[in-house]
Amino acid sequence: MSAVSVPRVILKSRRERPFLGRHPWLFSGAIDRLEGDVRDGDEVAVCTHDGQFIAWGLFNSKSQIRVRLYSWEFEQRLAPEFWRDRLETAIRFRRGILKLDDPEGACRLAFSESDGLSGLVVDRYRDWLVVQLTSLAIARQQELIVKLLVELCQPRGIYLRTERGIGEAEGLMLRDGPLWGAVPDELVEIVEHDLVFEAELRTGQKTGFYLDQRENRRAVRPLAAGRRVLDMFCYTGGFALSLARGGATEVLGIDVSNAAIEAARRNAERNGISNATFDTGDAFESLKRLATSGERFGMVVLDPPRFARSAGGVRQALRGYVRLNQMAVQVLEPDGILVTCSCSGLVSREDFVRVLAAVAEQTGRNIQILEQRGQAPDHPVSASCPETGYLKCFMCRVI
Ligand code: SAH
Repeated sequence: MSAVSVPRVILKSRRERPFLGRHPWLFSGAIDRLEGDVRDGDEVAVCTHDGQFIAWGLFNSKSQIRVRLYSWEFEQRLAPEFWRDRLETAIRFRRGILKLDDPEGACRLAFSESDGLSGLVVDRYRDWLVVQLTSLAIARQQELIVKLLVELCQPRGIYLRTERGIGEAEGLMLRDGPLWGAVPDELVEIVEHDLVFEAELRTGQKTGFYLDQRENRRAVRPLAAGRRVLDMFCYTGGFALSLARGGATEVLGIDVSNAAIEAARRNAERNGISNATFDTGDAFESLKRLATSGERFGMVVLDPPRFARSAGGVRQALRGYVRLNQMAVQVLEPDGILVTCSCSGLVSREDFVRVLAAVAEQTGRNIQILEQRGQAPDHPVSASCPETGYLKCFMCRVI
């Protein structure tokens, strides 16, 4: 196909800046006109108002993100070789550089925009792969992607997990289920550092495990020695068990999901950890109860679900973070450690510092931020697409 016959998306004048800066999301508001016959999922050339080529992308009339951009080289079209190269580069980085190649381990092999693969997430759990397709255009390439993953990873099976709301956002009809090979076992045991966890790839949260917190679970360990720890929003015990291993005197994990708590108990047992207990409960109610009954902890971990889902929800989310952190500080001993996380991409690091400042003001405690961490490096942040940096994990001393 010659470049001339490829449909073109012509930008409004002076709207090209973000795309020259390699931002991969082109919203409809920046588009002046379409030239040629374009159907959803088609490859298009995105051009400046005066017709200069910027990038190759995939079109979707149903999505707010009208075009996702993938290649900024005119010679580099979105052909099968291109996807193979992108995937291979992403996988090689995890294996060769990050050394996340433990056959019994788990890691993210491809992280959407961060790996130049907007709309595609691939997680490896031992020799199983879990795929998330979050854009229609990438979903159209499903067959090719599966073939490439088989070639590059030789998995036992590839399983598709879908995200809530993505169908409507992209005009996508996808259902969880096997894409290739065997169906994953109900529970897959994975090794993280010196611990073994079960992950439910078919029904667990996300793709089964919060892989993005892997390095944070290790980093907070040295601070736990000799402390009684509360792991709020503990899911299957990731932080709790790591901190127990790190020398915490006692660990209490709480999560609203019964299934997660049962898995956390099994994970404790699996690792021979006997000083961790897990309870089902709502975080706010549990913190209130713990505070009134006079329970105190030397360390509290807060890893809540995403509070802000849209730009309009940020203010309310910030109030939620203030309230939650304030309640956590109330059960924290003097000179205690607060590990507080936010996975709301719309809440910036500066916002999160302001949350802690408000908590300090309201509780009359000094808060020192010891370390500001983010997501594990197999979830890299694209400098051109800062939206890919969503996780904040602040290690704090509360005096
Ligand atoms: N720290 C975990 C991941 C936590 S994800 C790890 O390292 O694996 C957020 C968790 O919050 C989920 O397990 C979810 O079930 C739980 N959750 C959501 N709303 C909650 C609430 N109101 N109270 C307690 N837990 C809640």
